[in-house]
Amino acid sequence: MDGDTRLEKYHEKRDFRKTSEPGGEKAGSERSRIFVIQEHDASNLHYDFRLAIDGVLKSWAVPKGPSTDPREKRLAVPTEDHPLEYADFEGVIPEGEYGAGTVLLWDKGTYRNLRSQKDKGKAKAATMPESYDDGHIEVWLKGEKLKGGYALIRTGKGKDERWLLVKMKDDEADARRNPVSTEPESVKSGRTIEELSQDHG
Ligand code: MN
Repeated sequence: MDGDTRLEKYHEKRDFRKTSEPGGEKAGSERSRIFVIQEHDASNLHYDFRLAIDGVLKSWAVPKGPSTDPREKRLAVPTEDHPLEYADFEGVIPEGEYGAGTVLLWDKGTYRNLRSQKDKGKAKAATMPESYDDGHIEVWLKGEKLKGGYALIRTGKGKDERWLLVKMKDDEADARRNPVSTEPESVKSGRTIEELSQDHG
């Protein structure tokens, strides 16, 4: 697969003379297993959930952010693939540029594909690219804030494509914990989104 083609939309939307976001010329190692969640205070505040699949960061915008409560189904709207280098990005995208606003690295870590082994749960074994194409991803997250199983399930198709991000039922599920509001600090800088926007203001 040609990495440059997959990152075309990412490059089209941005002027790298103006934004400090990474250029990310090429797709990276297909074996990378990182995940990242970036709080993004753009025109609408949302949390960008990204999973390294096949050398790019597959991305979803989650308006309410992730939950640790399995009863909460969080809407996740797919967005363009991002380069792997984006997983370290934190900063302010200037006014007038695509996605203008502050980006805070809210959580980062590695994941395991829960669908890679047979006889685990109901879903048939699948690689990550197969899971994505299926619209049924199950991963075990090992982040600083989020841990345990998370499922991403595709609902609508085409222009109405939507996914749901749901905490799976396991020992890490916790209906009382609400990390989006109780743990707002960056895992990179320790700062809040207000502090970051002032730093760069
Ligand atoms: Mn965003």
